[in-house]
Amino acid sequence: MNLSRPQQIFTAFVVFALAACASPSANTITTASDKIIETKRIALTFDDVPRMAGAFFTPEERTAKLISALEQAGVEQAAFFVTTGNLSEPDGLRGEERIAAYVAAGHVIANHSASHSHLRQTPAAAYLADIDTAEAWLKGRPGYRPWFRHPYLDEGGRDKAKRDAIRAGLAERGLRNGYVTADGSDWHLEALTIKAAEAGKPMDMKALRKLYLQTQLSGIDYHDVLAKRTLGRSPAHVMLLHETDLAAMFIGDLVTELRREGWTIITADEAFADPINTAMPDVPYSYGTLIGSMAWEQDIQPPFSPIWMSTDMASRIFERQVIKAQAPIESPQ
Ligand SMILES: [Zn+2]
Repeated sequence: MNLSRPQQIFTAFVVFALAACASPSANTITTASDKIIETKRIALTFDDVPRMAGAFFTPEERTAKLISALEQAGVEQAAFFVTTGNLSEPDGLRGEERIAAYVAAGHVIANHSASHSHLRQTPAAAYLADIDTAEAWLKGRPGYRPWFRHPYLDEGGRDKAKRDAIRAGLAERGLRNGYVTADGSDWHLEALTIKAAEAGKPMDMKALRKLYLQTQLSGIDYHDVLAKRTLGRSPAHVMLLHETDLAAMFIGDLVTELRREGWTIITADEAFADPINTAMPDVPYSYGTLIGSMAWEQDIQPPFSPIWMSTDMASRIFERQVIKAQAPIESPQ
């Protein structure tokens, strides 16, 4: 999942605004008694289900652990975005049962395409046909929601005609944009763990947990500040995660930390009912979080980006703190 080109654009956008000073928070609502209440709400969503095997578990073990962790954390309803083509991959074995298990646990499922293609690299008609293939599998199943999430959050890049063709195609199908408002590039951390495991490098799980929490919490905080500058309020956030072993291990810790910071975990249904759900920002390059595009459309100055949000920096920290030093090889006397 190399997102380097759009990330460069986004990074340029961030760097350009490094001199920006913080604007006052409008993250409040006023009750009849004029009592100010902070509103920090976020739903959890997991992409690419059934996703490839990770570094630590079989896909079936991961599903069981993730369901258990969400239940123990009191997460009532997360959304699982299904890439139906993964069902016929080796790691997708018994994927249908695993998806049904998420639904049986109270979670919902939605469309993440059949083949997980980049819209920028796919003709509009073929892209819509791919959505239809996934929809044919999904529609009518228990837990189904009529939401479509763009693979790679790619909404067409510079090709506005294609972007608009897909927006119209989704509307014709009764599908809504399964946008995200917050992202911490968890896929990158997962890729590092898979590479380390393949190389036989032992990992410090405490350091891995810490890095996972830092990257995800920083991503959420960054996007909430950007959202407040853009909307004048904190929206009901939609957090982009993937169905990873890291989520299975650490989602409970992430929920604990979020609550400690004043967040309420809400259902995906509640999050996607936010008024921003109809936003269709018109920006030069359609890609990424909805909040990022809405901010760009309005020329909003983004906040400072914490170092954890750079995948390069996350890689360096992973290498230095998570990879355990190997015992030195004894050289012959
Ligand atoms: Zn995806």
